[in-house]
Amino acid sequence: MSLIQVSQMKKSFGSLDVLKNINFEVERSQVVAVIGPSGSGKSTMLRSLVHLEQIDGGSICVEGDYLAKDGVYANHQTLKRITSKMGMVFQHFNLFPHFTVKENLELAPKYVKRASAGEIRHKSADLLEKVGLSDKANEYPSRLSGGQKQRVAIARALMMSPAILLFDEPTSALDPELTGEVLQVIKQLAEENMTMVVVTHEMGFAREVADQVLFMDDGEVVEAGPPQQLFTNPQHKRTQAFLNTIL
Ligand code: ADP
Ligand code: MG
Repeated sequence: MSLIQVSQMKKSFGSLDVLKNINFEVERSQVVAVIGPSGSGKSTMLRSLVHLEQIDGGSICVEGDYLAKDGVYANHQTLKRITSKMGMVFQHFNLFPHFTVKENLELAPKYVKRASAGEIRHKSADLLEKVGLSDKANEYPSRLSGGQKQRVAIARALMMSPAILLFDEPTSALDPELTGEVLQVIKQLAEENMTMVVVTHEMGFAREVADQVLFMDDGEVVEAGPPQQLFTNPQHKRTQAFLNTIL
């Protein structure tokens, strides 16, 4: 069974059809890179998966559980259960500025009380070590570089032990010299078999790390395939045109 299965997903903002008929699957332990021009619907697609946007039609199924089926959403409890399996990392980090790094990590787990205070402390210490920021535990986000903030955001998303991590252009807000440290963390998670969907403009990264690449244009997944195929032998004219503009 796929970890995520999306079929015939549709979403409009007023008269603007932003997602037209989206179909794809994410297998367990896969890294799926999503590429495509600005405005093609990548963020809306990702936000819909975690119910930050409401879709108008189609189905989203996570580990056999329907978030929405044929446009009809599951009940509140089921929605919570499903969305709690997914962690999201945003372009602009979205850290809480008035909490320290450690507090940013511990806030949500303490709120849902699925673990003891001691377990939560251990986990946040472990994850800060994993992203190389143990020494920043008591700093406020404003004292960190963009790359450090994004690594905190990744550690925070991992605190809830998600089955899948979703990234929306995690390096787009960073100075070029800081993208490497964030991509390195994502690459490490890939090596540990974390299932991830990464919207990115980093084609080198997509090529190296992704198992599957989705090319989106104008609200559709125009082409999908393994990176070697999609980057070197794109089948669709729109994919070729997009790759020509950026490579
Ligand atoms: P991408 O992430 O690929 O740049 P988005 O999903 O952000 O694309 O946007 C797709 C389209 O939907 C764009 O035309 C954008 O202007 C529009 N859009 C996104 N969010 C909203 C919103 N909340 N209200 C109205 N239009 C929106
Ligand atoms: Mg976007």
